Amino acid sequence: AFIKIMKKIESGEELSYEDIILLLKTERKAEMDALFSAADQMRKEIVGDVVDVRGAIEFSNVCMKDCKYCGVRRSLPTLERYRMTEDEIMEIVHELHAMGLQTVILQSGEDSWWTAEKMIALIKRIKTETGMRITLSIGERPQEEYARFKEAGANNYLLKIETTNREIFEFIHPDDDYDERAKCSEWLRELGYLNGSGCMIGLPGQRPEDIARDILFFKEMGINMIGIGPFLPAKGTPFEKYPAGSVEMTLKAVAVTRIVCKRVFIPATTALASLDPDGQIKALQAGANTVMLINTPAKYRYNYQIYSNKNMIDLHAAIRAIQVTGRKFPSYLKIDVEGNIDA
Ligand code: SAM
Ligand code: SF4
Repeated sequence: AFIKIMKKIESGEELSYEDIILLLKTERKAEMDALFSAADQMRKEIVGDVVDVRGAIEFSNVCMKDCKYCGVRRSLPTLERYRMTEDEIMEIVHELHAMGLQTVILQSGEDSWWTAEKMIALIKRIKTETGMRITLSIGERPQEEYARFKEAGANNYLLKIETTNREIFEFIHPDDDYDERAKCSEWLRELGYLNGSGCMIGLPGQRPEDIARDILFFKEMGINMIGIGPFLPAKGTPFEKYPAGSVEMTLKAVAVTRIVCKRVFIPATTALASLDPDGQIKALQAGANTVMLINTPAKYRYNYQIYSNKNMIDLHAAIRAIQVTGRKFPSYLKIDVEGNIDA
């Protein structure tokens, strides 16, 4: 059956739900390798060899939600909370701009201090001072705010569905409703954002069938950027003692997502790099084509451990991964081969 599916992939035939499950379930080394190389080949043909590099700033760890898996959830009384000021954020934005990066990702908890007005002022400032593309990852907001952010100049939005299994979704999200999350994604698409979603691998009770549905959801929703990372336990959370998701299952999900969703951005996630020191490289060889650098200032990083032992991907790690995999640097990146900025 596996060979039949590989033939389907080669001939460009669509995979069924059952095919996807079979691919996700295989544990044979030879089959997994064949799956990864088919995804790698498809990545090469469809999006090419350039690895897109983006810079992320985690600008606030204040969150009003209590997602059970997350290391910055509301119910962590000892966690030191921070909010970067607009000037602190702009300083990093200018550094990223000097490196030649074209996209900055602004990520935070669901922090109501950052009102729509404040976000809009920040977006406009980034646009006028650098012209960079802006990705927002600040959670669920009213449709009207998404519209205003877009109008102010935001280009992309990352809001993961996390899992399409409703029961698991409700269990891990005490404050969220599955339909509302999916609705937010639809609004973002309708508003013309490059629309980012994604899921965690290894959530409690999650089966390969659920992951197969996640992948079909990304396709049906026309998602453009798909972040797939393992669940990782975070200290002090209700899931602290739960086992981490598996590297192999994450890579299989990445590979199948590339094959099913085709022309999409798939990052080699920080979560995968935190679980496996070679995680970035492995993901780039299994269908991924983007890397996200963490540019949160050192004094705040420690307090943005959404999971414990988070790997702080920096430019050097990204350069190494691109070199090891023999891929191409984006032409906009102003660095020499040693990874020094030569702006
Ligand atoms: N608050 C926004 C939101 O939830 O969309 C953005 C920040 S949130 C920390 C960004 C992502 O971190 C989530 O989409 C989730 O997938 C991931 N995340 C949080 N806790 C995690 C954990 N323990 N393991 C793996 N990923 C985690
Ligand atoms: Fe807040 Fe996002 Fe963490 Fe949920 S995942 S607790 S919304 S930061």
